Amino acid sequence: FLPHLVAAMEEVEETYIMVKPDGVQRGLVGEIISRFEKKGFLLKGLKLFQCPKELAEEHYKDLKGKSFYPKLIDYITSGPVVSMAWEGVGVVASARKLIGATNPLQAEPGTIRGDLAVQTGRNVVHGSDSPENGKREVALWFKEGELCEWIPAQAPWLRE
Ligand code: GDP
Ligand code: MG
Repeated sequence: FLPHLVAAMEEVEETYIMVKPDGVQRGLVGEIISRFEKKGFLLKGLKLFQCPKELAEEHYKDLKGKSFYPKLIDYITSGPVVSMAWEGVGVVASARKLIGATNPLQAEPGTIRGDLAVQTGRNVVHGSDSPENGKREVALWFKEGELCEWIPAQAPWLRE
């Protein structure tokens, strides 16, 4: 067993990452998963999924009332998404950095949106914005049996 992993348990967060329908349609699934996989976070859940309207509305409930909200719901439900749950120390903020700014034109080169997208309404990927929302969104998009508890072979090479 790996005591160093247990010692860090309190700081461990989870985040919900989603390749949006444009990312799936554009063949960017592997590229986007790869950015998180290479970074060294722990993949807990992964599925291709057609999001029902009710789930999209629950996921984006804080944005209800915004002018773009109806278009956003249409966008997210327009085709399959790839849903992922990732775990790690600091994973929420780190994933947001890897993803880049909401508007891809303002996202830094090297970020997913900075490298792979040109418009806010087609910004290819979602990432939870706080540890609280990470928990909420993972629970919203995954059923319990869909998440795996496992220790990757590389764990001792990622954290001292
Ligand atoms: P995020 O956390 O960076 O994804 O950004 P927000 O939580 O502010 O918004 C959620 C999503 O709504 C964004 O990723 C976009 O897909 C969409 N969105 C936000 N602002 C706009 C906008 O002004 N126009 C359009 N078309 N979509 C927007
Ligand atoms: Mg957000």
